[in-house]
Amino acid sequence: MGLSLTVLGCSGSYAAPGGACSGYLVRNGDTTVWLDAGPGTLATLQQHTDLGGVDAVVLSHEHPDHWHDLEGYLVACRYGTPPRAGIPVYAPASLRAHAYFDLEPTFAWHEVADGDRLTVGGLDLTFSRTDHGVETLAVRVDAGGRSLGYSADSGPDWSLEALGPTLDLALCEATLTSDEEGKVQHMSARQAGASARAAGARRLLLTHIWPTVDRERSRSEASDAFGATAELAEHNAQYAVE
Ligand SMILES: [Zn+2]
Ligand SMILES: [Zn+2]
Repeated sequence: MGLSLTVLGCSGSYAAPGGACSGYLVRNGDTTVWLDAGPGTLATLQQHTDLGGVDAVVLSHEHPDHWHDLEGYLVACRYGTPPRAGIPVYAPASLRAHAYFDLEPTFAWHEVADGDRLTVGGLDLTFSRTDHGVETLAVRVDAGGRSLGYSADSGPDWSLEALGPTLDLALCEATLTSDEEGKVQHMSARQAGASARAAGARRLLLTHIWPTVDRERSRSEASDAFGATAELAEHNAQYAVE
């Protein structure tokens, strides 16, 4: 299979009933990257792959809703049978100080920053720092001539344009409604739509929607700004990037 995205969790900031916080599997061929590991995503991940099927973990920033299941994953790998070690984890420098466990030898920890590029198997990743207070990295993933852009968390002073042209799928945070813009350092659905339009993205998938927000309103406001129909990320759904 070509480049695909599986949503392990898509709730904004805290988990909606029956949902999970931010986390995704990005896959191409035999390569699997776990992109963000928010609370609840480890449970969903095991419905799609076993724990040994993860080639690398990529974490966007230190806010707990984007990485706390890494702690459970460490325990499962360190004390499981057989134990695993040396699993590559890529994260901004500030995150490591928040970890409860000693990370080595289970993880091979790598710091990444704005503008960095790396290759994991069949996936090429490029990072862009967003507008979110703490160091937060959006990610572009290229594979087999297709491209996926993930905003991570960001306010409106960053745009998907920073991930470069020709995004086949833009996965963009849309925490707020249009009348909440400026309340916190996140985007509204309207701003996500405008950002995807400016970037020339072919398809827009909204994620990180605050659990009590009317999702159909978010879809409508994003679609108006995008100039095409925006989609809502669905928990446990898989999307082919084509
Ligand atoms: Zn978040
Ligand atoms: Zn955040």
